[in-house]
Amino acid sequence: MKKVVLVTGASRGIGAATAKHLSEAGYTVIINYRHNADKAEQLAAQLTQDGATAMAIQADVSQENEVVQLFEQIDKIGPITALVNNVGILQKQMPLVQMSAQRINHILTTNVTSCFLCCREALKRMSTDFGGKGGAIVNVSSAASRIGGPGEYIDYAASKGAVDTLTTGLSVEVAAQGVRVNCVRPGFIYTDMHADGGEPNRVDRLTPLIPMKRGGTPHEVATAIAWLLSEEASYVTGSFIDLAGGK
Ligand code: NAP
Repeated sequence: MKKVVLVTGASRGIGAATAKHLSEAGYTVIINYRHNADKAEQLAAQLTQDGATAMAIQADVSQENEVVQLFEQIDKIGPITALVNNVGILQKQMPLVQMSAQRINHILTTNVTSCFLCCREALKRMSTDFGGKGGAIVNVSSAASRIGGPGEYIDYAASKGAVDTLTTGLSVEVAAQGVRVNCVRPGFIYTDMHADGGEPNRVDRLTPLIPMKRGGTPHEVATAIAWLLSEEASYVTGSFIDLAGGK
């Protein structure tokens, strides 16, 4: 039976690269997005043209009812076997003293609550305790969880710290239920996310500080995610792969 994967936030960047890579590995790919229907539909059409089974589904995964509906839609396609919790946002760089509660809560619900909710719905379907056949989850954290994001976005960094801890706890909670839970922590990857933080060329600015002296590509993150989901990683759970050029 074909493996079915949900990649959240896959209309662009790391999510889109992951959806493409997993489709090439034979997965049926669900491309979740929030606003950018054109890009998500274009990606689904391109992957379908290339011979894969792919579809775009809109849902704001920070909202519980939308997550529940998203998984109900996936149920009609086939039992979900893999989940990539890729959604993550940051906002304009600023020190903590300037941050509003509204901003902090928006970051936390988008980056953390979404991850909890998608894991919950996936487990109800994958866990052997619920009659499922097992599966694998990869959470997309960030090097920011180790570095802390001072002066730029401590809120974002702390949200990724929560994703790390969720990975550790959940991996043990469901280890005997046939579900593996792992995490990737990218560092300085060329995507449009940095423009949302107000600094489109952030990766280039930081390149001299990266031991490998270059930023990373979304594809390099996608291959690590794909390995963690694969049978080759069958004894790997609660693990973290840092993709930050040695930083
Ligand atoms: P990106 O280019 O900004 O893409 C973010 C994606 O998330 C978009 O497809 C966006 O969809 C979607 N999205 C945002 N909020 C959503 C929501 N509430 N519900 C559903 N979809 C939502 O980001 P990226 O750089 O590829 O980053 C992907 C992940 O890697 C994030 O978790 C990020 O924190 C992490 N990461 C990135 C870097 C880096 O250097 N780029 C470094 C470390 C970690 P729409 O456009 O349709 O709204």
